[in-house]
Amino acid sequence: MREIHLVARPTGVPTADLFEIVPSAPVELAPGAALVQNVLLSVDPYMRQGMDSEEWWPLNTPGEGRALGRVLQSLTPVYQPGDIVFHTQGWRTHAIVTADDSRKIDELPGVPLSAHLGILGGTGLSAYVGLKRILDLQPGETLFVSAAAGGVGTAAARIAKLMGAGRVIGSTGSDEKAKYLVEEVGLDAAINYRHGALVEQLAAAAPDGVDAYLDNVGGEHLAAAIDVLNVRGRIAWCGAVSTYNHEAGVAPRNLFDIVGKELRLQGFLVRNHLDLRPELIDFLTPHLQSGAVVSDETVVDGLDRMVDAFLAMLGGGNIGKMLVELSDPGLRR
Ligand code: NAP
Repeated sequence: MREIHLVARPTGVPTADLFEIVPSAPVELAPGAALVQNVLLSVDPYMRQGMDSEEWWPLNTPGEGRALGRVLQSLTPVYQPGDIVFHTQGWRTHAIVTADDSRKIDELPGVPLSAHLGILGGTGLSAYVGLKRILDLQPGETLFVSAAAGGVGTAAARIAKLMGAGRVIGSTGSDEKAKYLVEEVGLDAAINYRHGALVEQLAAAAPDGVDAYLDNVGGEHLAAAIDVLNVRGRIAWCGAVSTYNHEAGVAPRNLFDIVGKELRLQGFLVRNHLDLRPELIDFLTPHLQSGAVVSDETVVDGLDRMVDAFLAMLGGGNIGKMLVELSDPGLRR
């Protein structure tokens, strides 16, 4: 039983020496609890924000993080050994859970377990909430998604196509990922933001303008989107990953154009929209089972490589949801 501790706080881009892998303290299972062996762990951009905060991530403790684990031993009637549970005690090989801080995952035939941390999990739900509840995306509309090759981005692009979006445009940080977006995810155009001015590339990719923007990046991406959005266009602000290392300011240079163009900008936190989860699962499961949709993912093996996976994800080293697999590879597929 091992866990990963944050041992120092970052300034700017985080590095591997801020983390340490340590043995877990022995624990006794209390009545009402279950011992879980983690199978899949999620690494997410918000953890970078958490690294700055003693409240979010106290030093010398494992971080919070979404995880799927298999019940090894149970002192609660709610879980049986072998059950798969979702919980939020990431960055460790084992966890003690109760029915109050975890939930059983009903495995869906033909759907890989990892999808429950990807397109069917909080990642896919963030995309769905952004498109459905915040943007109210309509058939035929042109959508722009930033960080399109990541977890939320690939899910958003796939879900938008299922919702009947017209043109779907994505931005990403490499040609390889742009190619994947067009060829595998089905985007109409993909932009590499490292090649030239974003606003010019966007204008070329969306000759009739953009109706709706799902923003995962903030900074210059948000400014460029404000430039190309049509009058009364909508923005769902999901994240601002370009600012989490404090490399760029959060507010876009052209914020006041929101008035002139009568744009609507609304932020959201997925945790306040969990009521949509059953709807998302009902909507996507048949498409996952038929193979029409996949949960895009990059999977790294082993707790020893979790820090590398986290740092790589922050730097763009993932396609789809970045996950760490700890045991039982067969369970994932
Ligand atoms: P992700 O997109 O899978 O991974 C992060 C990606 O950000 C990287 O792959 C990288 O891709 C891109 N990136 C990193 N630095 C960048 C920069 N300076 N400029 C542009 N792109 C950069 O992560 P995710 O979990 O799906 O999250 C995506 C966004 O959604 C994040 O902002 C996250 O905080 C947000 N989020 C919000 C909620 C909510 O409740 N509001 C929930 C989940 C996620 P490239 O190679 O393309 O640069």
